[in-house]
Amino acid sequence: MSETKNFIEDIIESDLDSGKVTQVYTRFPPEPNGYLHIGHAKSLCINFGMKAKYGGKCNLRFDDTNPSKEDTEYVESIKSDIRWLGFEWDELLFASDYFDVMFDCAVGLIRKGLAYVSDESAEEIRERRGTLYEPGIESPYRNRSVEENLRLFYEMRDGVYPDGSKVLRARIDMASPNLNMRDPVIYRVLHATHHNTGDKWCIYPMYDFAHPIEDAHEGITHSICTLEFEDHRPLYDWVVRECGFPEPLPQQIEFARLNITNTIMSKRYLKKLVDEGKVMGWDDPRMPTLSGIRRRGYPPEAIRDFCERIGVSKANSEVQESYLQSCVREHLNLTADRVMAVFDPIRVELTNYEGRETVSVENLNKGEDTTYRDVPFSKYIYIDRSDFSLTPPPKYYRLKPDGYVRLKGAYIIHCDEAVTDSEGNVTELKCSVVPDSRSGADNSGLKVKGVIQWVDAETGIDVTVRKLQSLLTDAVDGVTDFNERFNADSMQIVTAKAERTLLNAKPEDRFQFMRVGYYVLDRDSTPDRLVFNEIVSLKDGFNTAR
Ligand code: ATP
Ligand code: MG
Repeated sequence: MSETKNFIEDIIESDLDSGKVTQVYTRFPPEPNGYLHIGHAKSLCINFGMKAKYGGKCNLRFDDTNPSKEDTEYVESIKSDIRWLGFEWDELLFASDYFDVMFDCAVGLIRKGLAYVSDESAEEIRERRGTLYEPGIESPYRNRSVEENLRLFYEMRDGVYPDGSKVLRARIDMASPNLNMRDPVIYRVLHATHHNTGDKWCIYPMYDFAHPIEDAHEGITHSICTLEFEDHRPLYDWVVRECGFPEPLPQQIEFARLNITNTIMSKRYLKKLVDEGKVMGWDDPRMPTLSGIRRRGYPPEAIRDFCERIGVSKANSEVQESYLQSCVREHLNLTADRVMAVFDPIRVELTNYEGRETVSVENLNKGEDTTYRDVPFSKYIYIDRSDFSLTPPPKYYRLKPDGYVRLKGAYIIHCDEAVTDSEGNVTELKCSVVPDSRSGADNSGLKVKGVIQWVDAETGIDVTVRKLQSLLTDAVDGVTDFNERFNADSMQIVTAKAERTLLNAKPEDRFQFMRVGYYVLDRDSTPDRLVFNEIVSLKDGFNTAR
């Protein structure tokens, strides 16, 4: 955590100082209706961050009070994504485990005259709710007796009424300036099978009623959520108070959700992409889901670092996608082994070289702990077309006719001849190896500025590389619809030549392809064909001035 405190930490520290709470207890409450995305990472970092910083606890609680959309596949993915990000929860809970508690709370409210069964349709409730400028109209069912309300509520539970025919409403204040306090619906009839409780219930609590009860029941001290819930806080406080939970009551604190340019933060739209087959699945490496980001090779440490750096605020804003990428790049620069690959190969014949040998090439430079790998070298190699110029500009330090360049970890070569086709395209280079110029034992006396990567033609392998871009094109004025911004060219599949040492890599291993970018081995690889996903380019596109 940073040195300066954010406003959530200020609240927590003041509660600890005043003795209001003795141990910080937070929770992360995902709805299991999709995979977690990078926005959720921010909430995870805050909730688990408070646990770590204040020696507290943090629960993982699945908010599965809505029976229709939820799935156990999502439950499993959420658990594994949280662990991958580096967090471990104290208790694993399901909101649906509290349906009995919630039912009892509802009965308690009815007995206190604070809830009533209404026969109004959703439409009628909406019409009578009033506006910001006009008070609502009281429900014709508002003054039912406690006995009648209890009987009707039990009958709702017992399956007597069809979906939508009756609801339980909190009896608060139809003239409240806060619309959420105008007798909100707290239970509805829904004959639906629930993934956890099966057909036990045909009434389900509404989120605004369920959530505070879950928090209070677990002893959560600080219930951290996003800004949209700010106007719901009075209702949250009303529920925990009127349901008679003991002190300290949980306190809801809102922060601004994370938005990132060109990044979809809606589970609903992400699900649509999956369902319509526009991506390879929830963990497609272009998806902003944590599983997608993981498959894309973003290290969890870099994501935590990013969340830390963007901070916590009460004002909504949008973070540049390139800032996240620069956090990833910074981490990879310090951790990823370097290997050599050539994306646009030109064959090079080393005319004065016979036989073969292995040269020792540096992996990541870690000072004294630097490791090396043996890379085969022989008469034919590939270099990248962009590293040769027939008509070089001034100060061109790569290969040119009658010029020199160093092959990384190997020799200095001299370009004797560029073979071209009838259209003038270079098809092959004929070069000679400078004697005594081998890296580490260079007695050639030549000073050569350019160092380029290369791949041995005989032993090098062809690998598949997925070049990746954002799933959304830049927002142009007025176009906010994701469908219209969908980037149909977000994945480009190319073949590259690469050194065969990569055959030892395991899925999720990350590399810097020297002078090109960072790549991660994908699980779609087979022994005959390795598949890499582009993580980020080498060059930082993030401009702090923007
Ligand atoms: P979506 O709208 O994508 O379905 P959600 O808010 O409904 O997201 P939940 O599963 O309810 O998703 O979210 C779990 C927790 O993650 C909540 O506390 C929510 O506030 C938080 N969260 C979701 N999206 C973001 C975001 N973009 N930035 C920060 N926190 C988020
Ligand atoms: Mg939600």
